[in-house]
Amino acid sequence: MKRPTITGTEIVADVIERHPELVDVLFNHGIQCFGCGAATTETIADGYRGHYGPDSDVAGFLEELNNAMMVEECSVCHAVSSYDGPLFRMMVEGEERWICKACFIK
Ligand SMILES: [Zn+2]
Repeated sequence: MKRPTITGTEIVADVIERHPELVDVLFNHGIQCFGCGAATTETIADGYRGHYGPDSDVAGFLEELNNAMMVEECSVCHAVSSYDGPLFRMMVEGEERWICKACFIK
């Protein structure tokens, strides 16, 4: 599984859906429009420029995002990660498990 990298061209809403753990980082950099319409059309880099900092700081912002990113993988097949698509979170015997859609419907 290749660790995904956020390059700045991703749509804000997509990143939040895949990586809710990054909300704090976005929030700390002034990108707080999670609920508004712009989040579905604006890229991460545009959001940063528009809300917070100059273009020259985008690289540092992206680095911070990538460092904060957690990637869960399917605990059944180990071939699908949360980057490939949404995983279902399940509690199994008190432990948190992530299961991909294909394994979930088997
Ligand atoms: Zn799976």
